[in-house]
Parts: sequence; structure tokens; C-alpha cells
Amino acid sequence: MKKILAIHTGGTISMSQNAQGDVVPNAKNPIAQEATILAGRVHLVTDEMFNLPSPHVTPVEMLKIQQRILRAEADGIDGVVITHGTDTLEETAYFLDLTLPNTIPVVVTGAMRSSNEIGSDGMYNFQSAIEVAADDASQGNGVMVVMNDEIHSARYVTKTHTTNVATFRTPTFGPIGIVAKDHAVYFQKLIRQATCQIDHVIDHVYLIKAYAGMDGSLFEFLDNDATAGVVIEGLGAGNLPPRTLPAIQQLLDRQIPLVLVSRCYNGVAEDIYDYDGGGIQLRKMGLMLCQGLNGQKARIKLLVGLSAGLTGDELKDFLRTAVS
Ligand code: ASP
Repeated sequence: MKKILAIHTGGTISMSQNAQGDVVPNAKNPIAQEATILAGRVHLVTDEMFNLPSPHVTPVEMLKIQQRILRAEADGIDGVVITHGTDTLEETAYFLDLTLPNTIPVVVTGAMRSSNEIGSDGMYNFQSAIEVAADDASQGNGVMVVMNDEIHSARYVTKTHTTNVATFRTPTFGPIGIVAKDHAVYFQKLIRQATCQIDHVIDHVYLIKAYAGMDGSLFEFLDNDATAGVVIEGLGAGNLPPRTLPAIQQLLDRQIPLVLVSRCYNGVAEDIYDYDGGGIQLRKMGLMLCQGLNGQKARIKLLVGLSAGLTGDELKDFLRTAVS
């Protein structure tokens, strides 16, 4: 029988609706009390690590979860399921994807409806996630996100709807598999990517979104010694309004790593356009293009790379492609 570790961290999946209809955290996580789930088919070990709404989760908690999983692997666990609030779920999942050795299935799940609401999806998603984590076919797929009968790669999945249970989508590539009645069915194989060992996380890595008519003001705020790195969600294929350029150049002169992704929902950032603020100029100035990741994931990747002590070409290679 497979031994699966369930790490609970909080989020809507652990909350309930009160008499006023407000969704509030519980002192006791109702999902963690459910020991009979998949009874007889897996041996479930439970660890209630945190009870946090996911806007309260930081890279410090992400690293603690990663270290807990490494310890469990050393103790012979066969797979891991993490329950998490959906707001920042994609960031924790991608952090783990970048920092774990990909030796056992690790699945992150959550819920859009709290534990006592009609149509609550928490217990169902938890059960699906356990099934995926215990399935032999899940081996080597990197960290996965299982919600609403779909299996997504942590690298590309994103929350796309504020309330709909079908909120998690993978733009451009689609899910890697589905959850059938009681097992996982995969129809895409991921290209392997390099992972990164870290023992601490740095702070002051920022994310800025470009907009029509943007000037350099936001970048000027970041022009100080504390700033460790900045991800910019550029326009379209990877372009910026020209009035941003002098302030961006000042950040580059300070040797602050700047990463360029696209604010578009689909596609990858590329150096295609040769005009003032176009991707070709941005690349020549020294911005690093990061393909296939959205802004919040590129920020996690930059944070992990910097926390690992990567600089210069090593950091550029680590960031350049989402796959390698
Ligand atoms: N705000 C909640 C959280 O992320 C939403 C959720 O869990 O789905 O903790």
C-alpha cells in the first residue's frame, strides 16, 4: 500500500462559511480530520503544517514545505499531497517544482468553495490529488496541481477565475492529464528542467506590470540598494513604453537583474520588435527574457535563482527558458 503524506497549509479548503455567509478559517481543519478518505487503498500520513489563508503564505513557508517533503522522502514516503489556498497556490507549486528533486509525485490542491458550502469541491479535490500522488504513472512529472478533475504542471498553471471551480487553467499548453474514475490519465510529457537547491530565501524581488503610457516612476522607487531583482510583465511579445527606459537603465547600471515576461495570457516573450522600447532594444540593454512563465512564476524563478547565489550568465541561463 502506498504511503502518502498530506501536508495541510490552510486556504478555503480548510475554511467554513459562518451564519452571516462569510468564509472564515477554522481552529480545526475539517479536511485534515477526514482519515477515512480512500481507506484501505493508501496509507495517509497527515501533517497540519500551517493554517494560513494563502495571501499570508510567503517564500519562507514555501521553503519549510520543501524541507518537510525532503525529510519525508528520506523517510520513504511514496507521494505528497499539499492542500493550499488557491490565491497563491501556483506560486508555492512552482517554487516546489524548481527546488525538489522530482523523485516522488508531489500534488498541490485546494478548493473554491469552503468545507460546508453547497457544492464544496474540497474533499473531492483532496481525494483526486491523493489518487494522482499514489498513481505510478505520476512518477517524474514534476510538481502537479490537481483541481476539478484536471492535472496541470505547476510550471504553467494559473488561477484564472475569482470564484469558478474550473479556475485553474494552463494557457498555451493545456493540462498534462485528467483524473479518471480512480486513476490518472496523462496525455502530455513534460520536458525536464534543471532544479535548484536552496537553504534560504531572499527578499526584495519585485513584480511590475506595464501599461499604456507608463513612465519610469515605479522603477525609480526600486532604484535602491535593497532591490534584489525585478520581473517586468511587458506588453505583447515583450515591449515597453519608451518613457520607462531611462529608469530601467538606472536599475541595470546598479546591476539589478531585470527579467522580462509578457502580460499576455498566452504565448511567450520574445525579442521581435526593433523600435524604442521594443524587445530587441530591451534585450540589448540587458533585460533577461523568460519564456513561457507568467509574471508571478517568473518572480519565483528569479527569487529561487538569486537565493541559490546564481549571477551573470548562470542566472540568465536558468531564467531564459522555462524548459531546458
Ligand atoms: N483566499 C483563499 C486563499 O487563497 C482562497 C482559496 O483558498 O481558494 O486562502
